[in-house]
Amino acid sequence: MTEITRRSFLKAGMASSAALLAMNGMQTAPVYGKIDMETKPKILGGEGVHCDAGPSWPIPNDNELKRLTEVFEKRLWNRSDDPACAVSEFEKFFADLMGVKHCVAVSSGTAALTAALAALETGPGDEIITTPYSYVATVNSILLHYALPVLADVDINSFQVCPKCAGRLINSRTKALMPVHIAGAPAKLDGFVDAAQKNGGLPVIEDACQAHLGKWQGKQLGSIGTMGCFSMQITKNLSCGEGGAVITDDDELAERLQLIHTHGQMPQFTGDGATYLPLRASNFRMTGFQAAVLLGQKDLLEERARIRNENALYLSSLLADIPGIYPIKIYDGGLSAWHLYAFRVVKEEFGCDRDTFYKALDTDGIPTFTGYGDGDWIRYIRTIYSTPAARRIYSEQDLNDWEAKINLPNHNKLCREAIWLQQYQLLAPRENMEIIADAIRRIQRHAGEIQKLDMSTFQKRMIP
Ligand SMILES: *Cc1c(COP(=O)(O)O)cnc(C)c1O
Repeated sequence: MTEITRRSFLKAGMASSAALLAMNGMQTAPVYGKIDMETKPKILGGEGVHCDAGPSWPIPNDNELKRLTEVFEKRLWNRSDDPACAVSEFEKFFADLMGVKHCVAVSSGTAALTAALAALETGPGDEIITTPYSYVATVNSILLHYALPVLADVDINSFQVCPKCAGRLINSRTKALMPVHIAGAPAKLDGFVDAAQKNGGLPVIEDACQAHLGKWQGKQLGSIGTMGCFSMQITKNLSCGEGGAVITDDDELAERLQLIHTHGQMPQFTGDGATYLPLRASNFRMTGFQAAVLLGQKDLLEERARIRNENALYLSSLLADIPGIYPIKIYDGGLSAWHLYAFRVVKEEFGCDRDTFYKALDTDGIPTFTGYGDGDWIRYIRTIYSTPAARRIYSEQDLNDWEAKINLPNHNKLCREAIWLQQYQLLAPRENMEIIADAIRRIQRHAGEIQKLDMSTFQKRMIP
C-alpha cells in the first residue's frame, strides 16, 4: 500500500466513538458497527454518520510520477517504435496479466469497442446484441458504425445481460454478441460462448470496461470472448485519465486492430514510403503519458482488487437481512472486479422509493449514484437514426421491426431501483462497511417517515 493510501485509511479510521462506548459497556441501544440505532437519520433531524467515503480517486503514487518524468524527458510522448516506448511495455504487461497473446492499447474504452467492431468489419444493417444496462458508450460504439444495437433484457438479480434472452435475438444479420460485465461483475459468459458456437461461431466482444481483474471460472474477464475491451478512464479500477485496450488471442484480429488504430499505416510509423492498407481505420493511439501512468499502477492492482472484493462481500453480508435491499448477485464461478458496488432498493419492502433513499443516505454522509438515468435507449436510438443518412439505411418499418423485438422489463425496473457505490469506496477500512450498512439499516427503520418528507430543496454532496 502506498503512503498516500495509508494516510487516507488512517483518516478514515476516526469514526470509532461508538465502538469505544460499546467497549465500555455504555451503549444501551443495539449497536451495529458504529451507529446508535436508536438515533434518527440526519434527514429527520438526527446526526449524520462519520464515514469517510474512502480514499478519493484517483490515488496518485510516486511510481506514476517517475514513469511520467521518464517519458517526458526521453521525449517518447507518442506511440513510437522505439523499444523503450511505454505504450508497448504496457501492452506486453496487460496481455500477460490477462493471459492472452495480444493487447492493442488505445485512447479510450469507447475507442476499444469501436476498433473491435471495426476489426469485424461491422457496418450498416449489422446487428450487435448487447445489454441496455450499460454506459452509453456501449450503444454509441455500435451506432458509430451505423449498425443496430439489439438489446437483450438483464437478470434483475445480477444486473447482467441474460444469455437466453440474447440467444433468442440472433438472426442472419447478427454480427456479434457484446455482453458487458456491468459493475465489474461477470456476465454469464458460458451462455454467450454457447450461443455463439451454435450460430456458426459468431464473435463475442466482451465489454470489460469496468471489469479489470474480474474473473469467470478462473479466467480474466475480457480474455474469454473473441476480443475484450477495457477502459482506463479516470473512474475505472485501472486508470490514466483516458485510455483503453483491446485484448485477443486471435493473431489475425490483433493485426487488424493494430492497423485500424493507426490509420492502417504499414510499417506502423510514418517514414519514407509509408504504405496504407485500405481499411476503415482511424487514430485511436494511446500516448506515452497514458501508458506511463498505467505502468505506475502495476504493483497495486492485485492488492486493490483483493481489498475491494473482501469489503464488498462483507458489505453484502451486512446488508443481507435489511428488508428490500438486494445486493448484486455474483454468479457461481465468478469474481467481480467491483467497479461498482450495486444493489437494489425495492420500495414495497424497504418502505421508501430509491430516489428518496438515495437522498437520505447522501444527507447522512454517504455519497452514492442512482445509475444510468431512465435507460430509454429505444427513444435515444430512434432519435439518432432519424437523420437522412440513417434513413438511407433503416426505413421506418425496419426500426419498427427492431423495436418490436426488444422487451426490457427488468432493465426498466433496475433503472428505478439501483444504487451504486464506487470502487474506491471499497478501498476504505473494513469498519466503513459496517457504517454504510448501519446507515442503510437506520434509514430503513424510518423509511415510511422519510418518504413523506418534502425533498424539493435537496442538494447532492460533492463526491470526493
Ligand atoms: C467506461 C465504459 C466505457 C467507455 O470507456 P471510456 O474510456 O470512457 O470511453 C464503455 N463501456 C462501459 C461498460 C464503461 O463502463
